[in-house]
Amino acid sequence: MKVSQVYKKKRSLSFEIFPPKKDDELKNIDATLEVLSELNPDFISVTFGAGGSSNCNRTIELAKKIKYDYGVEPVVHLTCLHYDRNEIDEFTRVLKSEGIENVLALRGDANPNIPDKNDFRHSSDLISYMKRKSDFCFLGACYPERHPESSDIVSDMKCLKKKVDAGAEVLLSQLFFDNNIFYRFYDKCRIAGIDVPVIPGVMPVINAAQIKRMVSICHASFPERFQRIISRYEDNREALFDAGMSYCLSQIIDLLTNDISGIHLYTMNNPLVAGRICEGIKNIV
Ligand code: FAD
Repeated sequence: MKVSQVYKKKRSLSFEIFPPKKDDELKNIDATLEVLSELNPDFISVTFGAGGSSNCNRTIELAKKIKYDYGVEPVVHLTCLHYDRNEIDEFTRVLKSEGIENVLALRGDANPNIPDKNDFRHSSDLISYMKRKSDFCFLGACYPERHPESSDIVSDMKCLKKKVDAGAEVLLSQLFFDNNIFYRFYDKCRIAGIDVPVIPGVMPVINAAQIKRMVSICHASFPERFQRIISRYEDNREALFDAGMSYCLSQIIDLLTNDISGIHLYTMNNPLVAGRICEGIKNIV
């Protein structure tokens, strides 16, 4: 099923997982998927590493597992910066033949070890190109605190509108820790004429190393309330886990009571995290 259909009837609940690199991590994936599928999510998205067809294979294998073993609709992430038209054609062929209907179209990030190819400069190029040859439902990424390469929110918004005009039917957001930032971003999307569902991405923070990584990768700002929690509990693993879970749950509940169109949860393939969050929201979503 195309995930854009969900929003005609209800708001969505979805999760993001990544393909494990090592075989022994596969057990974790099954444990996580067991927990996640019990909540009947509308879709589970699977991330995509940059460069090389083995990345694509791992993503597609996991997407097939989600679809055929767990009966949940998968969304396959696909980046384009390191691929040419022929490679994207081949991905398209494989995705179609495996019955995949939903693609999160991404540019990806430059990688010094992998040369960029010049066929696709932006996610909107990928969507326009693939749309001519397929009828996938395309999703796109969006950034409540603007994309780090954008000089200002206005130019970022114009580019986001291009992505939607190219055919992105749903936008999934970068994680954020301050819901007010998302609400302001959402209003700007509507003012810019972006009228597709804009789904907030939420990540439970459970350890200090992960927080540092988030700051450097996602440029997410940390509200004072959250900073206080981190500095109070950063040396106590169990306490930080509990506090991070509670913070994430309070974010989700606030978003749901503000009538947003769905929740996309970054699970980090952690069945404990998934289980705790699912338990916390099972009567709410
Ligand atoms: P684009 O939409 O191309 O935007 C990148 C920059 O170019 C922005 O500054 C934008 O304003 C500008 N821009 C966009 N369109 C145009 C245009 N037509 N003309 C001029 N400028 C333009 N990365 C992975 O490698 N694998 C993943 O699985 C993955 N999953 C993700 C999931 C989500 C929900 C999110 C939010 C991000 C994900 N990323 C993933 C990270 C993503 O690849 C990076 O953030 C990347 O830097 C930008 O990708 P994009 O698709 O948003 O790029």
